[in-house]
Amino acid sequence: MTDADWELIQRGSLRFYEMHPEKEIDVFLTTRNLADGGTDHDLGLVKQVETLGLESNLVVMKQSHSTMIERVCTPGGIEADGCFTTESNLALSVRVADCVPIFFWSADSALIGVVHAGWRGTVKKIALRFTEKVEREEGVEPHRLFYSLGPSIGLCCYNVGKEVLDAFSETWPNARDFFTRRRDMTYLDLRAANRFLLNAAGAREGTSLDLCTSCERRRFYSHRSEPGKGRNWGIIIHEDRAS
Ligand SMILES: [Zn+2]
Repeated sequence: MTDADWELIQRGSLRFYEMHPEKEIDVFLTTRNLADGGTDHDLGLVKQVETLGLESNLVVMKQSHSTMIERVCTPGGIEADGCFTTESNLALSVRVADCVPIFFWSADSALIGVVHAGWRGTVKKIALRFTEKVEREEGVEPHRLFYSLGPSIGLCCYNVGKEVLDAFSETWPNARDFFTRRRDMTYLDLRAANRFLLNAAGAREGTSLDLCTSCERRRFYSHRSEPGKGRNWGIIIHEDRAS
C-alpha cells in the first residue's frame, strides 16, 4: 500500500512531482519553474494552483516555526505550522525552501495532514506533536499513521551554528546522533531527526522524496543557496472523485 512512487509531471510550463500513496490521496510538490524567468513561485501561486485545479480548495498556513497544529474544515488561511483534516477535497499546503515538508495520511485514508519542520520546529518536536494531536482529537493511533518527507536541505549541505546544536542538546538526549562534524563545521540531519521522532512514535514511512534542495537548487528553491528567491509548495488532498 505504500509502494507508490513520486512521478515528475510536466503540465504547461509547470513541472511538479506527484504521488498517490492511496487511491484517493494525491500529494503534489512544485519545482522551480525555469520557464518563469526567475519569478518567485509565491507570487505565481494562483497560476500554479490553477494548473493543478486546486485554487478554490486551498488551505494556506502562515508559518512561523511554531508547533501550532490546527484542524481545518474549510479552505482559507490559518496561522499554524501543521494542519490536518478529515474532509475530502481540501488541499492542505505547506511552503518550504530547505525546511522539511511532511505529509501524513491515516491507514484508512480518512485523515490527511501536513507539517512544516525547520530546525526550530524540529527541536520543539512538531512532528511528534502532530501524532499526539491526531490521536487525542481524532483517535488515529500513530501506528495507523503514514508519512512521507518531501525534499529539504540534507546533511550534505546543512551547516549550522553552535546555537542549533545547543538547542537540540538541551531537550534531545540523543541530539548528537543527528549532527556531524566536517572541516570544523557542524552539519545537522533534519530529515533523520524527524524520522526518528515519527518512527519512535510508531508512525510508518511511505515513499519519501529524498532530495537535497541545496544540491538540487536548479530543481527546487533553496533558502541557503538563494535567500528569498522562492518557495516550493507541497500539497496533499483527499479527493472525493464522486463529488
Ligand atoms: Zn546537499
